[in-house]
Amino acid sequence: MMKEKIKQKAAELGFPKVAFLPVQSLPLWEEGIKRRKAIDPETAGYWEARGLVSDIYAVMGDARTIIAAFYPYQPFRQSSSPEKGYFSAHYKAYPRGHAAMAELGKLLTDMGYHISVDPPVPVKEITYRSGLGKFGKNGLIHNPKYGSLMTLHVMLTNAELKPDDAIPGDISDCGSCRLCIDACPMQAITDNGTVIISRCMRYHMLSQDFIPIEIREKTGSRMLGCEDCQVSCPRNRNAYNKAVNFNESDEIFNIRSILKDHARGLKNHMSLIGETVGRNYARPLRVLSMAVIAAGNSGDPSYIPLLAQTLGHSHPPVRAHSAWAIGKLGGENEKDLLMEARKQEKNPKVIEDIDLAISRIESRKTYYGKS
Ligand code: SF4
Ligand code: SF4
Repeated sequence: MMKEKIKQKAAELGFPKVAFLPVQSLPLWEEGIKRRKAIDPETAGYWEARGLVSDIYAVMGDARTIIAAFYPYQPFRQSSSPEKGYFSAHYKAYPRGHAAMAELGKLLTDMGYHISVDPPVPVKEITYRSGLGKFGKNGLIHNPKYGSLMTLHVMLTNAELKPDDAIPGDISDCGSCRLCIDACPMQAITDNGTVIISRCMRYHMLSQDFIPIEIREKTGSRMLGCEDCQVSCPRNRNAYNKAVNFNESDEIFNIRSILKDHARGLKNHMSLIGETVGRNYARPLRVLSMAVIAAGNSGDPSYIPLLAQTLGHSHPPVRAHSAWAIGKLGGENEKDLLMEARKQEKNPKVIEDIDLAISRIESRKTYYGKS
């Protein structure tokens, strides 16, 4: 009776399916992390920082049931305008799915049960074990109807609800397909379907650290998220055929305006970004850093005066990315600007970027006879 009520409410809230599991161990997560740390040791700290725990009782000592659900979304059409920084619709859907799960939880709290919504547990493994989806080689969970275009949500409760008879079956149904592996611009997916995080653009976009040049070169106007390994997946074909344009309220990453406003602290931008994709992504240094890179990738030299200002920013990665962007867009005058900045610069990583930017401008002049 209670389960039926939850399922019905879940459907009203935008979850096509909801599953009930007993509390159980989640060994795939631990094994996966060990494997990933071994092949990609430089990102070991990332997994620690995420703080996920596979022991459900460590999160809720009296947990009796795990409730899993997915929240489908329509993807955005990639913008052709370099002014509009792109972000994946996943980031807009996630906070809405989370709020819907919290709303669903009220059915249980109103009856006196405890809940924990989207706790730090391995949600992909739980979704797989619930029978709601399988792992793709791109590391994402997909199912036949919604592909991987869904956000995954979990709720723990001390209510004892009868588990479903889920038979998850094989962990993956990708077979011999390797379209996502071939589509990844960073060759970040191994043949056996492990995403090497240090090569994945998505990982670097969430950082406010120095972003490797090979990543910067590939991000284009993306500000948050990369979807190439989802666009290429046959399971998402229908959804991408129906991709929607940003509406006005989705234009949260206006590159020029972020660069113009950075000295004032980006407060207005952060509140807009926070409202749409959540406060966790409304970090001024991350956003400015990515906006500088998007400007560098735009091919539009009118960004240079703004980049000349960010070249003097207090955060070293912003200075390094600005030098790189100026090196891509600039000519002889900008070489002087970079040489001047180099005289003041103390950070060796920024100096490295300035030197590369200068040599880039010089090479262009040598090979194409123009600056
Ligand atoms: S998100 Fe982008 S960079 Fe990362 S694995 Fe997928 S295609 Fe590659
Ligand atoms: S593109 Fe192919 S291999 Fe990659 S997740 Fe989709 S079905 Fe699996």
